[in-house]
Amino acid sequence: MGGRGPASEGDVMARTYIAEEMARLGFQPGAADGGWEQPFDIVGIDAATPETWSFTNGDAEVSFEWWNQYVATSGVQSETASIKNAEVVFVGYGIEAPEFGWNDFKGMDLSGKVLLMLNNDPDWDPDLFEGKTRLYYGRWTYKFESAARQGAAGAIIIHTTPSAGYPFQVVQTGWSGEQFELPAEDEPRIQVSGWLSEDAANALVSFAGMDLALLTEAARSIDFEPVPLGLTTSITLTSEISRVQTANVIGVLPGRDPDLAAEYVVYTAHHDHLGIGIPNDAGDSIYNGARDNASGTAMTLAIGRAIAAHPEPPRRSTMLLFVGAEEQGLLGSKYFATHPTVPPGRIAADINYDSGNIWGRTRNITLIGLGKSSLDAVVRSITERQGRTLEADHFSDRGYYYRSDQFSFAKIGVPALYFHTGTDFVGRPEGWGEEQINAYTNTNYHQPSDTLSDDWNFEGMIEDVRLGYWAGLEIANADQMPTWTPGDEFEAARKRAIADLD
Ligand SMILES: [Zn+2]
Repeated sequence: MGGRGPASEGDVMARTYIAEEMARLGFQPGAADGGWEQPFDIVGIDAATPETWSFTNGDAEVSFEWWNQYVATSGVQSETASIKNAEVVFVGYGIEAPEFGWNDFKGMDLSGKVLLMLNNDPDWDPDLFEGKTRLYYGRWTYKFESAARQGAAGAIIIHTTPSAGYPFQVVQTGWSGEQFELPAEDEPRIQVSGWLSEDAANALVSFAGMDLALLTEAARSIDFEPVPLGLTTSITLTSEISRVQTANVIGVLPGRDPDLAAEYVVYTAHHDHLGIGIPNDAGDSIYNGARDNASGTAMTLAIGRAIAAHPEPPRRSTMLLFVGAEEQGLLGSKYFATHPTVPPGRIAADINYDSGNIWGRTRNITLIGLGKSSLDAVVRSITERQGRTLEADHFSDRGYYYRSDQFSFAKIGVPALYFHTGTDFVGRPEGWGEEQINAYTNTNYHQPSDTLSDDWNFEGMIEDVRLGYWAGLEIANADQMPTWTPGDEFEAARKRAIADLD
């Protein structure tokens, strides 16, 4: 299907196939218009960035070079994004988190300003932002949204390798070329989103006659207040804007309990991949995405088949949601979360599958976001029955929880499950699993060579499918919906979603 790039012919074929499979299994169309598809537009923004970005201090000026020192993209979906003579204010982490009593803005009027911010979230105290674990507050997406809520004209994140979890070159490549978004609605937006390298940020603050190390130290206090740097800046980006359409595919199996059938257990998997692109050395230009994420799509259809085969359906309703444009930035799941076909307060849980285990049975499995909700107990009892151990994410500082489709559900308050393949493989020596996973990541991940191959071993994938199937069944048949761990970052969103039902 040509790698299922959004809006391609293969994309349409894949969506049609999924809808036909769901119909065959006995699911009903689940989109708002009574069909299988929830269409949405994708906006492409290709910004031309100025060679330098300048800042003035009285009569003096300092400039930073694009690529080596700064990168930036348009925050608006129009041909021109522009900041004119805006004051630059250092706002620490740029975080507003009532559950931790933390507010970096302290009510200061920041409208029209450019906010200079530290990356990550406070990580030195286990009682504050869960210590070393990166919460959503520590992700760059949160920081640009946070600046927009303040009415800022722009925001600049200071890159350091420890606070990002990757070197500046990842920022350079990730922030150049066409960027994709959902169409703008009424959410607040900044004109320009930027990054400065660590050296450039130090130079900028020195130019203001201050010391970034001291500002960073001050930002560690709960009493921190924004610091105007006494600098102004202007920048204009011109962009080419494009627009194409793809769709989520949605099927529903109604629950049997008249009181609970209005509530849903949702299974998600993204159906898109990268489409046709630059050929590899073998001349293959089709990015098949067999593991990423034809495998997860097949796993989800298999669960649908198992649930539809019950003589009586579970008490709550089941939704299979195949989202599009995940590779462009979780766009399909974001669109569903902002345009849900059922009220978020009635979605009991989301169970997400992305890139199944193709290497065999494992003695362990990783739950990304272990500790966040009452779903832990559900999963633990099933993995115990499977004779497997449930493990927390080994790289919790990388923020994997916020980088796949189930996160779109967490943001609207829905407790969510997302697993990573186990590493301890039955009948294999220690370290073998990590070797396979690393080899895949280095050779096949997002390459034409991610293709179905005879050496795929489906036994582990089947066990992972059973885990999600049993978990969904237990959630669907329980008297109560699952809950977030008290004090979790998404508990407030759940309370709002439930309050919205009345
Ligand atoms: Zn991918």
